[in-house]
Amino acid sequence: MPDLRFPSQPPANTEIPRPKRAEGQWSLGYSEPLNKNEQSKKDDDPLNVRARIINIYSKRGFASIDPADLRGRFRWMGLYTQRAPGFDGGKTAMLAEEELDDDFFMLRVRSDGRLLSADAVRTLGRIGVDFARDTADVTDRENIQYHWIRVEDVPEIWDRLDAAGLSSVEACGDSPRPFLGSPVAGVAEDEIIDGTPALEEIFERYIGDPAFSNLPRKFKTAVTGHPAHDVAPEVNDVSFVGTVHPEHGPGFDCWVGGGLSTNPMLAAKMGVWIPLDEVADVWAAVASVFRDYGYRRLRSRARLKFLVSDWGVEKFREVVEKEYLGRELVSCDSPPSPVGHRDHIGVHPQKDGKSYIGIAPTAGRVSGTLLVQLADLIEEYGVAGARLTPYQKIVLIGVDQDKVEPLVARLDEIGLSARPSQWRRNTMACTGIEFCKLAIVDTKERARALVGELEKRFPDLDTPITINVNGCPNACARTQLADIGLKGQLVMQDGEQVEGFQVHLGGATGLDANFGRKLRAHKVTSAGLDDYVTTVVTNYLTERTEGERFAT
Ligand code: SF4
Repeated sequence: MPDLRFPSQPPANTEIPRPKRAEGQWSLGYSEPLNKNEQSKKDDDPLNVRARIINIYSKRGFASIDPADLRGRFRWMGLYTQRAPGFDGGKTAMLAEEELDDDFFMLRVRSDGRLLSADAVRTLGRIGVDFARDTADVTDRENIQYHWIRVEDVPEIWDRLDAAGLSSVEACGDSPRPFLGSPVAGVAEDEIIDGTPALEEIFERYIGDPAFSNLPRKFKTAVTGHPAHDVAPEVNDVSFVGTVHPEHGPGFDCWVGGGLSTNPMLAAKMGVWIPLDEVADVWAAVASVFRDYGYRRLRSRARLKFLVSDWGVEKFREVVEKEYLGRELVSCDSPPSPVGHRDHIGVHPQKDGKSYIGIAPTAGRVSGTLLVQLADLIEEYGVAGARLTPYQKIVLIGVDQDKVEPLVARLDEIGLSARPSQWRRNTMACTGIEFCKLAIVDTKERARALVGELEKRFPDLDTPITINVNGCPNACARTQLADIGLKGQLVMQDGEQVEGFQVHLGGATGLDANFGRKLRAHKVTSAGLDDYVTTVVTNYLTERTEGERFAT
């Protein structure tokens, strides 16, 4: 493998002709930045902002922050300015992002599939209580996300996170974003292979490594050895998915180039078999291809999915093997993704005789106080720990059989049900207009109200119907993969622009992975959402044939 240090002048690859329209690929010799984001990253490694936050900005306050750090490099530390209150969705389109800035930050803390001990969960909760006005959301990338963070408090927060073995490094930015790991890794009875050591190795070797701190854009990783493919591998930039080779046994296939937002694409399978101890090497090779060949001219074309789409997965694999690994990978067919739940909600047996319990906050919203209460229960009931899930849920690992039902009852008392309604279980929401500067509409509270209403209108729904509520086209809550995907936008009502949603119907993952269909007429006001969903669901329930799922 070539030297992975950050290249000041990447070597031009003379074998691949420069495309007519420059895409800004380093390997084709485009080392001069072609837009302001690229210039900012070249001016200074974004990882260096950590020292400035600790030594300067936290001491001198918000006004002292260099704008290039504030709106650029802070993201590499998991920090974004949050949306100032008082701007409606119309302002999102009219004002520049910086004009919507508040003096407070959103802080994202990565969990990377880790088992969080009672102490770690308590630390996360106390940070919410002490520094974030009691906010703490579980995101669909297994993060805890805070709001109302002051730059003055960041060093103390980082100290507490360090002590708990947690980090916000590269939780945002053009970097290896937080990893998705199987929430039941190492304990599920039907697991093919435990990917935990590979995730730990990738984190130890490459997070905070300048070799990967200047990628063309975000780079999302998922690893699972669970047969349910419980980390949404179809829509990550790189996914390692458990598979069994007839001779070599359990290992991982590598899927590349998945992503949503505009131009959604499903990941392509490389069709390989990678042993556990080589996953980190292959991860570095794929990330290197992205770094060196990824498109840097236009931000809208800078995700890995565009490169994989243009090259095809066969050529992508060849470049990984020849230019970065220096060897061929073993070929192997991997099984298709199954249909069905991937969220691990409920009580399930572990292979060691204990149980794991999946619990459901509504649309990922918890609080610092709630996390502290959860930590107390984890300790009181001798639970091994908690993992966050890609579906904004929490799974408690290692519960003794005789403690399952008492613990489930106590969890219910604090609002974390292990047996939630279909609606609460299957509804996700992104951050939305409450805090996100790109948002056009409210999401979290809208989702919570929708769930409450649907629980009344369809209390005995016998089949899962997933609803993903997004505040803008960026699809952070995976608009296109839900039965009912909602994309925030302004819609016309009686000649006025009001908050509403473009509806995508019939999205799915698994065997019949498919993006929801966007129907021109399917726009709904936020106020009319309860009735719209009621009509759609009623039609489905009335007209479905035996065994017909919503997505089909
Ligand atoms: Fe913000 Fe849009 Fe992402 Fe929602 S989908 S969190 S509104 S960027």
